[in-house]
Amino acid sequence: MAKKIVVLGGGTGGTIISNNLRRHLPKDWEITVIDRDDRHIYQPGMLFVPFGIQKSNTLVRSRKKYILPDVNFVIDEITHIDPDKKEVKTKNHKFSYDFLVISTGCKIVPEENDGLMDAWGKNAFSFYTIEAAEMLQKKLKEFVGGKLVMNIAELPFKCPVAPIEFVFLADWYFKNRGIRNKTEIELVTPLPGAFTKPKASAVFIESAKSKNIKITTGFELNAVNGKEKYIESVKGDKVSFDTLVIVPSTIGDKVISDSGMDDGIGYVPTHHNTLKALKYDSIYVIGDATNVPTSKAGSVAHYEADVVVFNIMSEIHGVKPEEIYDGHSTCFIVYSKGTSSLIDFNYKIEPLHGMFPAPKFGPFSLLKETKMNWYGKLGFEWLYWNVLLAGRHLGAPPTLVMAGKEVG
Ligand SMILES: Cc1cc2nc3c(=O)[nH]c(=O)nc-3n(C[C@H](O)[C@H](O)[C@H](O)COP(=O)(O)OP(=O)(O)OC[C@H]3O[C@@H](n4cnc5c(N)ncnc54)[C@H](O)[C@@H]3O)c2cc1C
Repeated sequence: MAKKIVVLGGGTGGTIISNNLRRHLPKDWEITVIDRDDRHIYQPGMLFVPFGIQKSNTLVRSRKKYILPDVNFVIDEITHIDPDKKEVKTKNHKFSYDFLVISTGCKIVPEENDGLMDAWGKNAFSFYTIEAAEMLQKKLKEFVGGKLVMNIAELPFKCPVAPIEFVFLADWYFKNRGIRNKTEIELVTPLPGAFTKPKASAVFIESAKSKNIKITTGFELNAVNGKEKYIESVKGDKVSFDTLVIVPSTIGDKVISDSGMDDGIGYVPTHHNTLKALKYDSIYVIGDATNVPTSKAGSVAHYEADVVVFNIMSEIHGVKPEEIYDGHSTCFIVYSKGTSSLIDFNYKIEPLHGMFPAPKFGPFSLLKETKMNWYGKLGFEWLYWNVLLAGRHLGAPPTLVMAGKEVG
């Protein structure tokens, strides 16, 4: 009988791992990937939509087109996972598995934030869905000056650098439109700094200062008041706005909590280094669906996929999974249309200065705003669709490489 691997979610992580597994496993292993629709969204591009740098219709492609033909792609809503029976239920089918990979991601839930829906689309906006990013683009076009506040409702959230990129791009955009002197920009975050890692955070705070962007830290959102135009923290602090851009509360998919497999906010408790679900045998988790303490980012899903393919192959050969994954994450941080910075770090090692990927030659500079990094950011989209989703890699290990980094 054919052996079966079922992959839940055909987004960044699910597509990469299905193709990667297909390249490594013999044909008697059946691979099935399930997603609710056939719309693969290049999510990093959503940051550019509000500023008119990228058109939203260029961000969506068919999932099926990017999944190898000898992987079964099923469009259906996943409704239940039964780890004891090794079975997954969808609205219309039932699937048994030998190994399960959970890559159901996470999503924003603005309806969970007090007062936010009353202001949504009026003076509160987001760019974490295509529809929201399009609404925000219209709003920014009409913006003639005033106070723009970028708020992160709570932790954890997807792509922790995106809000910093948003305020930097807003500075560039308003300067370009000649209304920067009429505009205040403020980033209001629950983090103790501009980013999760203190050293990189200090660099971003300096950059924000030089762009006259205010950063308010340690602000845990309690409510949005769209009528009186302020956000209020759980401590009772208020920040006023004319236009609010928000990363609403974020949770893992409902199927994880409905199946009783979550940590309370929809994420699967996952071993930080093997990426195996902590409570279940034969289940691995990658991407935004895990609760591992690193960024919820596409680069992370890609590195994790390599580790999980290795560990599933090991288990098939009767060998225990290895503790390989180190929290490795790599992200460009756009500073303006034309310049970007880059960070590369893991659970233990913070972003450092240096060159990437080749020591001395780069061509990309770490923790530094350069034109070359901007070209890297633009080129990444091509790499995403043509190389990474195909489950190929670039010859580098999935773990952090210290060569090229300035230590001390
Ligand atoms: C604005 C923005 C900018 C970003 N910028 C960057 C960046 O510059 N660099 C970077 O590395 N990352 C970036 N990211 C993050 C990156 O896009 C995500 O971390 C990555 O896509 C996570 O992959 P994933 O497979 O875990 O989840 P996803 O790609 O979101 O895929 C999850 C899939 O599961 C499916 N699914 C979930 N539940 C069910 C169900 N019950 N039934 C059927 N299907 C289901 C969903 O439809 C979805 O297709 C950004 C994200 C945003 C929002």
